[in-house]
Amino acid sequence: MSGTAFIFVTCGTQHAPSAAPPPSCPICADPRQWVPAGGQGWTTMEALSRRHAIGWREVAPDMLGLGVFPDFGIGQRAILVRTPAGNVLWDCVALLDPATVTLVKALGGIAAIAISHPHFYTAMVDWAQAFDCPVLLHGDDRRWVMRPDPAIRFWDGETHDILPGVTLHRLGGHFAGGTILHRAGGGGAILTGDIASVAPDRQHVSFMWSFPNWVPLPAAEVARIGARLDALDFDAIYGGWWDRVMATGGKQAVRRSVTRYLAALAGPGPLAP
Ligand SMILES: [Zn+2]
Repeated sequence: MSGTAFIFVTCGTQHAPSAAPPPSCPICADPRQWVPAGGQGWTTMEALSRRHAIGWREVAPDMLGLGVFPDFGIGQRAILVRTPAGNVLWDCVALLDPATVTLVKALGGIAAIAISHPHFYTAMVDWAQAFDCPVLLHGDDRRWVMRPDPAIRFWDGETHDILPGVTLHRLGGHFAGGTILHRAGGGGAILTGDIASVAPDRQHVSFMWSFPNWVPLPAAEVARIGARLDALDFDAIYGGWWDRVMATGGKQAVRRSVTRYLAALAGPGPLAP
């Protein structure tokens, strides 16, 4: 396909190649994101790579976090989940640089990319093409794919196994196809993006329809998502950003958070004096 795959600056989403930049980005224009006062801006992979690079940090012994430095888009952080059966890239970022291609290939490449929701779709197609792997997206969010590609495989229903001990669970909420990754073993872990968003205090999670524009989810949705999470074995929660990690106590934190959220919605009055 000829043209340039333009990337919108506010959300980091790469669009299908075109001769001129698309007039606007539906992901930015959606009320779950925003258009800045100065209007929507765009860039290209080439321009982005001149001023940014991918930085790596170990977030757990078998999980390598990666993100764009300096920050770009909404500061998305992805995680390379390493297992004996292969690597899964959880969530994605707007940049892919040659150093990262070399490093990831040396680590065994990527068996599959799985993404929590459209705010992390970013440059998923470039990543899939570089590593010759599928991108697993929930079918309920297919309308938000701005750059269609044969590598994208939609899955439906509530769960989807990727590799031994690595399973996707559709929780919905923030997006209809909102997905988390569950990793079995060692107490268990969930990787949540902002489908269950680790709060700044790292003692709670929260659930919102729109985080940037402060629109909550209905009580029934929060209770439903809480019950789904309660059925999983996990201790650690890895949110979508570098400092949004709960290394232990995650299960109790989810219970506490759901109870508090439902009390806040039900009222009356403040939760504490
Ligand atoms: Zn989001």
